[in-house]
Amino acid sequence: MSQPKLVINDLHVSIEEKEIIKGLNLEIKGGEIHAIMGPNGTGKSTLSSAIMGHPKYEVTSGEVSLDDEDVLEMEVDERARAGLFLAMQYPSEISGVTNADFLRSALNSRLGEGNEISLMKFIRKMDENMDYLEMDPDMAQRYLNEGFSGGEKKRNEILQLMMLNPKIAILDEIDSGLDIDALKVVSKGINKMREERKEEFGCLIITHYQRLLNYITPDYVHVMMQGRVVKSGGPELAQRLEAEGYDWIKKELGIED
Ligand code: ADP
Ligand code: MG
Ligand code: MG
Repeated sequence: MSQPKLVINDLHVSIEEKEIIKGLNLEIKGGEIHAIMGPNGTGKSTLSSAIMGHPKYEVTSGEVSLDDEDVLEMEVDERARAGLFLAMQYPSEISGVTNADFLRSALNSRLGEGNEISLMKFIRKMDENMDYLEMDPDMAQRYLNEGFSGGEKKRNEILQLMMLNPKIAILDEIDSGLDIDALKVVSKGINKMREERKEEFGCLIITHYQRLLNYITPDYVHVMMQGRVVKSGGPELAQRLEAEGYDWIKKELGIED
């Protein structure tokens, strides 16, 4: 059993020469669930895209490491193989590739050459997880995300999470646009990872709303504003944000809009 550790140190990220992330620090260890909350446009999605290596997001300074290895030096697929998982706010559609084929090749890439999963085992595992997430079995043979409803896309991201079994997952607004049933299912999947993988799995949940945190109790809550983590606390911080919004933090820190 090993406990992974993702460290983000004084990260600065620009998009088209404009600095969006302005010196962000965060450390996520296996066994921990962190939540980042923050107003729209504050750089939450930019943070996750930069960590996954989206070419549009330029890291101008700072470090990101996973188990002391430099993530920023890795190619995008190496990051996934190293055990980072990112659920995008807007998952992309891939026409002509079935969900099952996509998942199997992603899983085999994660497992590495010589350790590929057998087709039988893969199918069994996928069926099990789809059943757990109350997904229609037809979803396996549909093209990736093509015509999926909002809720289906988010469930599918959690299916990928459960199949790929990453060390650290970053889930960007996995709760947005979900009805209560889908929200419960998504939470159930994350909680299962937490219970089963224990110290081997850490998670960063980026969310706009506190309601997801009614189903997944985070260990730490961070407030992000203007490209930085400006305040950290426990679950009670999320509840205060829900009740009072962000103005009190702005006042406390002397931040202007
Ligand atoms: P959040 O996820 O907190 O709502 P984002 O990271 O999406 O915030 O956006 C932060 C800022 O970066 C915003 O001002 C947004 O307009 C800008 N931005 C984000 N993505 C892009 C992009 N691909 N091209 C240009 N500007 C972007
Ligand atoms: Mg700095
Ligand atoms: Mg966003």
